[in-house]
Amino acid sequence: MARLVVMVAALFALVCPAIATAQDTPDEPPVRVEVVYDAGGWSATFHFPSDAQGWAFPRSNRARRQNSGWRELSWTVETDGVSLQRIGETDVLLADDGTVPRKVTVRFVPFADDLLADYDPALRFTDGTLALFTGHFAVMPWLRETQEMAEEGPETEMVFRDAAGPLLYKGQRHRAATTRDDATYVVFGDPQPISTDHLTAIIDPQTPAWLRRELLDFLPQTFAIYADRLGDQAGSGKPMVLSSWAGATPGVVSQGGSVLAGLLTVRLEGDGLVEENVQALQGVRWFIAHEGAHFWLGQTVEYESAADSWITEGGANLLAYRLIERIDPDYDAGADLANTWQSCLAMSVSKPLAEADERRDYDAYYACGTVIGMIAEGAAQTNGGRDFFDFVAALVASNRKDAGGDGIVSVDDWLGQLVAESGDEELAAQLKHFVYRGTDDPQRDLCAMLARVGRSAPGCAAVAD
Ligand SMILES: [Zn+2]
Repeated sequence: MARLVVMVAALFALVCPAIATAQDTPDEPPVRVEVVYDAGGWSATFHFPSDAQGWAFPRSNRARRQNSGWRELSWTVETDGVSLQRIGETDVLLADDGTVPRKVTVRFVPFADDLLADYDPALRFTDGTLALFTGHFAVMPWLRETQEMAEEGPETEMVFRDAAGPLLYKGQRHRAATTRDDATYVVFGDPQPISTDHLTAIIDPQTPAWLRRELLDFLPQTFAIYADRLGDQAGSGKPMVLSSWAGATPGVVSQGGSVLAGLLTVRLEGDGLVEENVQALQGVRWFIAHEGAHFWLGQTVEYESAADSWITEGGANLLAYRLIERIDPDYDAGADLANTWQSCLAMSVSKPLAEADERRDYDAYYACGTVIGMIAEGAAQTNGGRDFFDFVAALVASNRKDAGGDGIVSVDDWLGQLVAESGDEELAAQLKHFVYRGTDDPQRDLCAMLARVGRSAPGCAAVAD
């Protein structure tokens, strides 16, 4: 997730936040939170199942622009004797007399702004539609002595209700939505969703006309092509896309968003997006194509550990390039792939890819993952003219949980598919060496691997026919 201010670099910032949430303790009654919008505005009423010295919010990251806790800017505790305090980097509900009452009501103004490494608490649409992030209402007991959150606590069950009418939740309309899913959005208001066989989308009506036209055209094609080539995406219901327009802020070009289970959010902002231009167009397409690919490579099947994220990030990159080429015959990924190749070489000298997360060198997963994808693509082409979609589809099909797999594409699964396509065990061994051991000459080694599948890259010696 995260905001993309500059388009291509921005991709590399799409790291999903890892935040501790409640453990599964099914015997314990949950904390119940009723989130209501009515004539009096927005409120959240917490019903706590037990006495506690405080209730802390595990998701308490700062607001990016304001550089402070966002609840103190937008929440007001209504219950007498209870206050919201910022302790270190955690928001905590505390009582003046020590024990927090079993029922606490908070009034709030939805905070539709960016947080550091967490999802926007609210996504505001210009027609009044508003999406609230569920996980920001989840709480854990707070321990006064140690001044920290308890390691275990009850789950939080949230009930969302709009006095004015139904809500949209997971692509369906509901009178009220009850959920323990702490990583999704619930949509309030009366949006006009666009629904196709493969997705439900809400696109802000004030989005500049050319971008709206583009989204209406590109989004359904993207999801239809991925579904056609990679199979059904796992999970119930159709993927949902929430695309908001934050206005023509002067001097800004911002194309951001996040991807959650079955849900892609897009946030567009800035006067740089008002008039049609190629750079903005490519930025939006790129974002949707890359993030959309994660519904398959990332959600339907996952990687085993962060060290393997070259499989999902590089894979989503190459799928995105090939998808855009397919939708737009005027687009050629060659120049972008050449840049990616150079980035990978620059980040790989004597630095094993599998250790990139320890170096905080996350970009390497995107760049070298794309290059490794090109090797897989070449292997698939030698295998009766298959392509990278076929390669990924085989990995999805043989590992997805709803077909009896473990839901994980391990490095061995990936290399096994490479050998299945190429019949070249030596290539798999060379690639494994590159990932885990590294090389002092990435250009030599990667060119050699590409040559084995009849491919080349800038700076490689020509491949003999
Ligand atoms: Zn990604």
